[in-house]
Amino acid sequence: MTDTSRPIVVWFRQDLRLADNPALAAAVRSGRPVLPLYVLDDETPDVRPIGGAGRWWLAGSLTALAGDLAAVGGAPLVLRRGKAEGVIADLARETNAAAVHWNRCYEPGAIARDTRIKRALADAGVQAESHNGALLFEPWTVKTKAGGFFKVYTRYWQACRALGDPPKPEPAPERIAGHTGAASDDLGSWTLRPSAPDWAAEFGARWRPGERAALARLEDFLDDRLDGYATGRDVPSEPATSGLSAHLHMGEIGPRQIWHATLARHGWSAATEAFLKELVWREFAHHVLYHLPALPTEPMQPKFQAFPWAEDAAALRQWQKGLTGYPMVDAGMRELWRTGTMHNRVRMVVASFLVKHLLQPWQAGEAWFWDTLVDADLAANSFNWQWSAGCGADAQPYFRIFNPVAQGEKFDPAGKYVRTYVPEIAALPDKYLHAPWTAPDHVLAEAGIRLGETYPRPIVDHREARDRALAAFKSLGSQE
Ligand code: FAD
Repeated sequence: MTDTSRPIVVWFRQDLRLADNPALAAAVRSGRPVLPLYVLDDETPDVRPIGGAGRWWLAGSLTALAGDLAAVGGAPLVLRRGKAEGVIADLARETNAAAVHWNRCYEPGAIARDTRIKRALADAGVQAESHNGALLFEPWTVKTKAGGFFKVYTRYWQACRALGDPPKPEPAPERIAGHTGAASDDLGSWTLRPSAPDWAAEFGARWRPGERAALARLEDFLDDRLDGYATGRDVPSEPATSGLSAHLHMGEIGPRQIWHATLARHGWSAATEAFLKELVWREFAHHVLYHLPALPTEPMQPKFQAFPWAEDAAALRQWQKGLTGYPMVDAGMRELWRTGTMHNRVRMVVASFLVKHLLQPWQAGEAWFWDTLVDADLAANSFNWQWSAGCGADAQPYFRIFNPVAQGEKFDPAGKYVRTYVPEIAALPDKYLHAPWTAPDHVLAEAGIRLGETYPRPIVDHREARDRALAAFKSLGSQE
């Protein structure tokens, strides 16, 4: 006879939600008591520890998840810190667990770790089952005609569409029979949020982590903003985009929920297609990372291995602090520091500037974003850095170098974005706002600006930097 009191451990990872959570649903369906677990694993080699801003988000997300579990009668969320392999084995032994369920992660280090854990659990007589909670199309399910993987987004999108709509999301369980009795760390002891200095002081005004907040944000977007998405999404001063990326990264909402809610409300239209195509860029990044596990560190185009970077710690620091003298770049970097996010258009501008104008390795930018973005995601971040640097999949060509002044004039013509984040130049007329060094002396004086003192002179001259970048690129030749 089977002992139905043996619990099922649900190992929450990047799926911190109750609805559309196949691992949780399978555990509930089993009829056994469910033991929810989260492991803060900073120790497994090859699994990147969560960055600073991500930890701020995680603290809120775990609190929300614990509350949501309690609301459906679930057991307290068990929090443990350490190498996941050891933690899972110990907990399974302590509680005499019958099975461990989780939703799959696709980072190479996580895949290797989870494979080891599955094997160890099987050896110990504990069933281990993984599910898809994070993606519309798992990386190995979308194939070229030759059976390979895609490197060009438009073809990938077409192949995804040919697969039809992804499965519908499952609702959250109404009741969860909980297993209690396993010891848990106190969330506060993890010090996920900073104290002094509290660099995240403004995050709370912008963000509310958790499943309820994610669903509310989606509803809000579908009600008020989807129609203007295609035209507004490139304007950084407009709240035109969904703001769902951090919720998606932590799995407080799943892409199936977004896909089906969008189509149920609006049907197929130019606006829905523009939005769903962005959601599928997230899928594409995971697809590429799965097939090219070195994506976070190695350029996809091998010739970029020989790129003559001009590593310069001082220049990197000025970029990080938003003190390059190019207002659009500085506004983006300061938005990032203050709010934990940066508008997508500006992410492209600042990434191009670091790599092409300053000739700093894209990996240095990727690392800074990893630590400072609340939506930091290994697949999306490394994929987009490579794309911006020109060495990645379907990348914009290296020789297309964003002019940060022209980008500012085009996407922030009235200067609303720059004035929000670079207040020391706010009094400049629009005409000079994106290139303060071109303003006549009396205009600068009237605006209270002393270049080099109250706001930096440009760290590099755009034309010279452009020529230097093109020369560096040419030095690579055409070898692959
Ligand atoms: P929306 O425009 O509302 O898009 C909906 C969803 O689609 C997003 O929430 C996101 O999950 C996905 N998405 C949109 N654009 C992209 C894209 N280019 N690549 C992958 N997914 C996309 N996004 C991250 O989630 N994490 C990162 O670490 C990250 N790093 C980036 C680094 C650089 C250099 C650049 C240029 C882009 C990066 N992006 C990253 C992609 C993009 O900037 C953000 O996903 C987007 O700004 C989030 O805002 P949103 O949720 O309002 O997006």
